[in-house]
Amino acid sequence: MSQSRIPPASLGGLSYLDPAAPEPWASFIEQIERVRPHLGPLERWIETLKHPKRTLIVDIPIERDDGTIAHFEGYRVQHNLSRGPGKGGIRYHPAVTLNEVMALAGWMTVKNAAIGLPFGGAKGGIRVDPATLSSGELERVTRRFTSEIGIIIGPDRDIPAPDVGTNAKIMAMMMDTFSMNRGGTATGVVTGKPVALGGSLGRQEATGRGVYFCAREAGKRQHIAMEGARIVVQGFGNVGGIAARLFRAAGARVIAIADHTATLVNESGIDIPAAQAWAAEHAGLAGFPGAAPIDIEDFWQLECDYLVPAALEGQITPERATGVRARVVVEGANGPTTPAADDVLRSRGVLVVPDVLANAGGVTVSYFEWVQDFSSFFWTEDEINARLERIMVNAFDAIWQVAQEKQVPLRTAAFIIACHRVLEARAERGLYP
Ligand code: GLU
Repeated sequence: MSQSRIPPASLGGLSYLDPAAPEPWASFIEQIERVRPHLGPLERWIETLKHPKRTLIVDIPIERDDGTIAHFEGYRVQHNLSRGPGKGGIRYHPAVTLNEVMALAGWMTVKNAAIGLPFGGAKGGIRVDPATLSSGELERVTRRFTSEIGIIIGPDRDIPAPDVGTNAKIMAMMMDTFSMNRGGTATGVVTGKPVALGGSLGRQEATGRGVYFCAREAGKRQHIAMEGARIVVQGFGNVGGIAARLFRAAGARVIAIADHTATLVNESGIDIPAAQAWAAEHAGLAGFPGAAPIDIEDFWQLECDYLVPAALEGQITPERATGVRARVVVEGANGPTTPAADDVLRSRGVLVVPDVLANAGGVTVSYFEWVQDFSSFFWTEDEINARLERIMVNAFDAIWQVAQEKQVPLRTAAFIIACHRVLEARAERGLYP
């Protein structure tokens, strides 16, 4: 074995970069490999994308309300910084792993480059179930984590944002902690903040809004009218809930919704604002009277125009893909479809609008927020939404065109555009030393 082929790091006996590593990193690696034939001379640099630039694992000890000490494991991965500072959310979930954060960071690199935002890709997370923490414990976890990753984040270095299990309030604590340690207010260190602290109007709805724009653009090419379109949405939080509301407001019929507490169907269309009010009051959809429970495997097989997975990764497996009866899958979540499932969907004529395009509305308005914080000049919500729509529609058009030219799926087309941008920057910068 030549020196360069020795696995670069080891975690539990397995190199954490091993392509045989567990999901979802292995899916990300497979998606990168699918771009290889399209890179031309830039292929020389492809390994860059399989090696996260910087990976930080931190211990987060806190005193619990009962006086005991608890330890949580936290991560911040800067997958690639060739095109600009790191950018990507922070996830609080009991199943978070380093492997998952690496994949999520890699998808941020691709997403930011595919859309044309001047950022690299990063992601962070804590292995914790926030629902089991009191508000004081949640604050202590957040502040200690922020201090620990404070050595690598900053407004011009790496800018976190919300993701699954985090929100504007947590971003406010992160911004305050970073600012306290620095001795000066640094609003631009995180995005997705409350508007009172330099947050942007429209940021909270942005991801769901982008999902809706992508569905509409796909529908124009597939001859699907939004009026009366049948919609199925998995995930009813900041992405799925808002997208469902926008679909309904545009005249579509949301026939099934799901969250971690319930999977529900109503063929005549679900009243989304009522379901949102119920979920807010009861910490989930369980018991919502406006729809009937349905088995999760039947949910994936519902006949619909748009299927929107907006929960976690790895949901559409090859087995489930075989039963999908949607015309278009619009990925609100990151990594919901495995590469093998992608192949099944394509062979069955189902169009997939990939995560790195479909859910990019969130980070796009994060970019607007960061720009507004730097210039201390704030835009109206109409300006935000109009700029978001323009960027999303342009990105959709560009990716669609590459997919047509090269006869590849939209995901591969998005990866081709993104990998060219990242690797061109990589090659131009050169290796140091
Ligand atoms: N967590 C979101 C994503 O996966 C937003 C990231 C951001 O705004 O930086 O795209």
